[in-house]
Amino acid sequence: MKNKLKITEEHWKRLSKGLRADKQEQMGGAYLGFYRTDETNVYTVLDSWIHDPSDYSFQNIGGVGIHADANARVFGKAIKLQAAGILDAHSHPGKAFISHTDDHGHQNEGGTLERLRKTRLALNLGILIRMVVGASPNNIYADVALPEKGFEPIHLIEVHKSSGRIDIVPVNSPFEEYVPETEFLERHSRTLEFIESYKAQKLEDLEITVLGTGGTGSAFINLAKFHCRKLNLCDADRLEKSNCNRFFGAVNEDVGDLKVNAIRRDLLRFRPNMEIRAIPRFFPENETLEVAKNSDLIVVSPDNDWTRYHAFEFGLRYGIPIIELGSGVSLHNGKLERMQAQVRLQIPGAPCGLCLGLPDDNLEDPWLADYKHRVGYVEDKNTGHAQSPASVATLNMAVANMGMVLARRYFCHELGMERGLPHYLVWDEISLRVFDLTSQFPHRKSCPLCGENRISSSYWMRGDTLPTWMELMDPPGECLQQAV
Ligand SMILES: [Zn+2]
Ligand SMILES: [Zn+2]
Repeated sequence: MKNKLKITEEHWKRLSKGLRADKQEQMGGAYLGFYRTDETNVYTVLDSWIHDPSDYSFQNIGGVGIHADANARVFGKAIKLQAAGILDAHSHPGKAFISHTDDHGHQNEGGTLERLRKTRLALNLGILIRMVVGASPNNIYADVALPEKGFEPIHLIEVHKSSGRIDIVPVNSPFEEYVPETEFLERHSRTLEFIESYKAQKLEDLEITVLGTGGTGSAFINLAKFHCRKLNLCDADRLEKSNCNRFFGAVNEDVGDLKVNAIRRDLLRFRPNMEIRAIPRFFPENETLEVAKNSDLIVVSPDNDWTRYHAFEFGLRYGIPIIELGSGVSLHNGKLERMQAQVRLQIPGAPCGLCLGLPDDNLEDPWLADYKHRVGYVEDKNTGHAQSPASVATLNMAVANMGMVLARRYFCHELGMERGLPHYLVWDEISLRVFDLTSQFPHRKSCPLCGENRISSSYWMRGDTLPTWMELMDPPGECLQQAV
């Protein structure tokens, strides 16, 4: 098993600023969420702290101690957050390493190990990460004490910034150096003229889950196949003749088959070494949750906002960036009124999908809508429920293209890291213009998903926490009232 730590820009900044050692060692830490995938233990940072000068009982090079009441404050908050564990960090003026005092403590104050052991016994917190930050940037030692197993290295720290993901390899990580393969170098000889090969390889190795493989989803997949090798496709729909005005990657014989099967066949013809999982289920059914939590990126392109809402919440909870795609042609009295498509980028720690304008009323469960239709319930056309808008391949490809560009910048930052990425782009096919709406949709403090009383960071329990989707996915009260 590998161990991965995910942290947002805000908390990374707080820790790396606060743990600047010059004359004295500094201490701080973070509260952790935890989940487990097939190959990786993933620790997510829920919140962080840096100790005040008054918290220290002593502080010099080679050892620091914290007053009991300061520790009690930290552990009290861990319980309040229902954190799965704690990250305990301190700084070294020189190199990041675990010293003798870190392991065994200083006089009666106790070292990291001892302090953490006591804490765990007292509070039954399952997970303890210790981190030492050295003087030079990104010089980090990090390991995790697993119950009954002792310390294991943290292999990778992912810092999710609004300008893209930065990967930090701790000094004690056994991460192997990357050596590009000949086939990869040949295929990407023109890409590598503007993206460094280790970055292009990072893109290739990402695992991307696509929720909804209709018009926009299939368009995105047909761009992603040039960069990425691992795709999970989730959609329970079958291909109908009426989809064939905008479905990428299918041939006539595919009509009647599952959309995910048609796309999978097409991708494997394109490149036999792709790893494609075709899951004929709708998000958030359990099989889709399992592959989604493994992902580096979730692309959300369903035909309803209910799925979008739940995908946004899922991404916040698990620290996974979301690219959401949508398109539609609207008519007024039978006349073409609008042809627009949008892409929203939800980065952990940045404004969420709701802040970015996803309507949080009228979120109707698609299963319920489907059931009502089957029993003869007639929808009010004004609400727009269950009636997916007309669409066209040009719209879908335009928005899929913007989504793929954002994905490439997020993971490769080929233009450097100086600017944040746009989080909300709208393509207007009538005026042939792209609008960047990012500045009009800032983070809202009252947001039920990412605001102060957010639901996405609560309910972490102890141990291996994967709540069932019923626990995980309850929409906030205001949505429930509208949806039922
Ligand atoms: Zn130390
Ligand atoms: Zn929000």
